[in-house]
Amino acid sequence: MSDTFESVKALADGFATTFKHLFRKPITEEYPEYKRPLPVRSRARIILTRDPDGDERCVACYLCSAVCPVSCISMQSAERSNGRRYASWFRINFGRCIYCGLCEEACPTSAIQLTPNFDHCKREILSMVYEKEDLLVDHCGKDPDYNFYRHAGISTAKRDKGEHINEFKPVRVKSNLP
Ligand code: SF4
Ligand code: SF4
Repeated sequence: MSDTFESVKALADGFATTFKHLFRKPITEEYPEYKRPLPVRSRARIILTRDPDGDERCVACYLCSAVCPVSCISMQSAERSNGRRYASWFRINFGRCIYCGLCEEACPTSAIQLTPNFDHCKREILSMVYEKEDLLVDHCGKDPDYNFYRHAGISTAKRDKGEHINEFKPVRVKSNLP
């Protein structure tokens, strides 16, 4: 008898839930007319950012391409006359990218960042290969204050080694000897 009662109660609960939803306002979102704002740390389209001085952050160290599990990042390093490295070309094949975020984790300069912009898929697979001019943006992304050259112990056109913000003076190794 109690089994029958339990079954009828479960059935009634189910129908009650369905009945309640009949009178609720639908919450269907009309995509793509309406795009729900995603959290800032969502992992989708990748960009190459600039530092607060407006210069390219990427120093073409190859760490992102080394860590990428699907090998979809490639680049060529080059060096300016002031010793600052950059990528002469930088390519990401979004047709292979799995948006794992490992490249962003590995990047020492905070150059490569994933953004919440998820709807850049296209039917033509080759158009998913993005070059540096498609990736490089004119802002700092998620790290507005970070400048690799202020922490890296590298002299720049603006300051010498150890003179940048938050940087310690270079250690003279011989001074540590007994
Ligand atoms: S998000 Fe992952 S798969 Fe995509 S480029 Fe970065 S490391 Fe490679
Ligand atoms: S994006 Fe970052 S990790 Fe990749 S090459 Fe440039 S500096 Fe290195």
